[in-house]
Amino acid sequence: MSNAFTDLLAEKGTLLADGATGTNLFNMGLMSGDAPELWNTDEPQKITKLYRFAVDSGSDLFLTNSFGANASRLKLHDAQARVHELSRVSAELAREVADTAGRKVLVAGSVGPTGEIMEPVGTLTHALAVEMFHETADGLKAGGADIGWLETISAPEEYRAAAEGFALAGLDWCGTMSFDTAGRTMMGLTSEGMVDLVHGLDNTPMAYGANCGTGASDLLRTVLGFAAKGGTLPIISKGNAGIPKYVEGHIHYDGTPELMARYATMARDAGASIIGGCCGTLPEHLVAMREALDSTEKGPAPTLEQIAEEIGPFSSESDGTDGNGPTRAPRRGRRRG
Ligand SMILES: [Zn+2]
Repeated sequence: MSNAFTDLLAEKGTLLADGATGTNLFNMGLMSGDAPELWNTDEPQKITKLYRFAVDSGSDLFLTNSFGANASRLKLHDAQARVHELSRVSAELAREVADTAGRKVLVAGSVGPTGEIMEPVGTLTHALAVEMFHETADGLKAGGADIGWLETISAPEEYRAAAEGFALAGLDWCGTMSFDTAGRTMMGLTSEGMVDLVHGLDNTPMAYGANCGTGASDLLRTVLGFAAKGGTLPIISKGNAGIPKYVEGHIHYDGTPELMARYATMARDAGASIIGGCCGTLPEHLVAMREALDSTEKGPAPTLEQIAEEIGPFSSESDGTDGNGPTRAPRRGRRRG
């Protein structure tokens, strides 16, 4: 299957994705607890500015401000009737920025988790979850998104429901999960388990991978786990800019641009071909990542020891894929670039 995403990936070999949405919006005055999606219509110039951060920093694709644009999350703000509108507008604003970039830049329509727990553990039915994802994907497609971009998913059943939602909307997609619990997703899935999940879907994504989670080191270990399992689809790596620390009333990420530049080349060496940042990743990080990817060639996959040495220690000794690559984390001091 060919589309704008696969074409650009084939042309460039490696794509630089974008950085943080939340961190950058908080820096523009968004308050914790606000629905960022409401800014698509209330503060469109700030959303355009967010998108320009990525494009001006050299990103080949960036995500729309629609992470929480689903009926369940918007209901918390009494905006559940605006799912389609807010999704559509997030993509329309993005389309304008991408189309005036002066080079090929892709609009990836962000789709986050519903915020509810699906059956059988929770109460959200499969059918309702599919319909929620379908509604968001419809809006993103109407606004001109090149591709849908599922992110920060923990539950395999929610990933499956989103795949069906994208199929109903007729929108090609990519999808990442968050491995934030000792190398596994909150629902216990390992990197290996995700490779099986993704490759077994009827509506296969164009690429899959990991975003957010703990630090950049853990994310690189997860990418090594994907590669070791030997899937056929391109791998996405979107790690946080270091480790979150609570400093003077707000969350601060301690990763420097130099650290994220090294993370980016290590992610490529580990097997990822779509590389970006997540929480804490600011324009200066992206600029350093772009420069590092452009000025170096792909090298051999890093070892766990190299990752721990250069990026920092892992959050856990095992990521659940024992016997198939990653096993023990060396106990080393964290390097602070
Ligand atoms: Zn994140």
